[in-house]
Amino acid sequence: MSEDKKPLAPNKKLELTNKNNLPDIICKAVSLDLYTGFGDISVTSLIDSPKVRMLKKMHKPQQDVSDFLWTTLGSAMHQVLEFAEYDQFEVKALKQAQDILSRHGSDKVADWLGKYIDAKFSDSINNDIIQEKRLSIEVNGWTVSGQFDRFNVAEKLLSDFKMTSAYSYMHKENHVKYVKQLSIYAYMLREHGFEVDLAEIIFLFRDWSQMASKRSKDYPPTQALAMPLELMSHEETEAFIKKRVAIHQEVQESGVLPDCSNNEMWTTADQYKIYKKVKGVLQKRCISGGIHSSYESALSHKSKIQPGTLDELVIKYFPAERKRCSFYCPVKEHCDQYKKYLEMINENN
Ligand code: SF4
Repeated sequence: MSEDKKPLAPNKKLELTNKNNLPDIICKAVSLDLYTGFGDISVTSLIDSPKVRMLKKMHKPQQDVSDFLWTTLGSAMHQVLEFAEYDQFEVKALKQAQDILSRHGSDKVADWLGKYIDAKFSDSINNDIIQEKRLSIEVNGWTVSGQFDRFNVAEKLLSDFKMTSAYSYMHKENHVKYVKQLSIYAYMLREHGFEVDLAEIIFLFRDWSQMASKRSKDYPPTQALAMPLELMSHEETEAFIKKRVAIHQEVQESGVLPDCSNNEMWTTADQYKIYKKVKGVLQKRCISGGIHSSYESALSHKSKIQPGTLDELVIKYFPAERKRCSFYCPVKEHCDQYKKYLEMINENN
């Protein structure tokens, strides 16, 4: 086995490689962070493409340590935010130990530890805050599992932390996904006896730029911000969960994999860009205001611009990109839809 194919973590669901020869300590950190859910399906898989889920089940995908660096940094930030809730680090460490004990079925010891923490560190515990709790519900014979980040019992407020790019925040389709995800967590919490009225995403932007924030009103105005979310009703969420479980069950039972949708492939829009040719040389950057979603719009804009006597304006077409397929999908090597997409691109070039 070559060095770059060496499995780094004894993980059942994927084979982890280190093709860029990253430092050993980074590989260890990434391996540690590879959380696997429980039950038949996780909330994130439930709202995601059935094809991606099935291809992951059928083929042990190979992914590289480099693909997980941002995820690991996000998890580290989650830990810091969790610790921020307590004025003593020891309390959090003990709370984590309690959680591990109960996950391993040692409920008696976990209960004893819980009582010990409450008695010994009563001033440090805010019982109104529940963090990183794993929940599950049964739907049509399947266990749906999920883990929310933070729930404020007194305020009935559910919060989820996202360490992400500014682009991801501006891509409004993601907000729809967040509403679905948090509505399901809220549903699960209600099914476990809590009242949930409010929800928010707390963003931390890993690539935030002050310059960019001044240029666009859609760009996040600050490096971290809280965005309130309007949750679906309990009934609407229940119907949605049932529908998604039925879709995944049907795909799993029939073995027929439906194509991923444009949303699931993170497909960008077609673009038409206007460039200036100066004395026959095409400029590298398109002109200001020169990006359009249709040829007609680009043509209309072009007709209003007067280039210099020796200059010329040219419209170039950039076909839609499937960003997830090209850069992020761990099962693309096994995907017929992706192969057809590559063939289509090659034919057009
Ligand atoms: S490569 Fe694209 S189309 Fe294929 S499973 Fe992945 S996201 Fe879906």
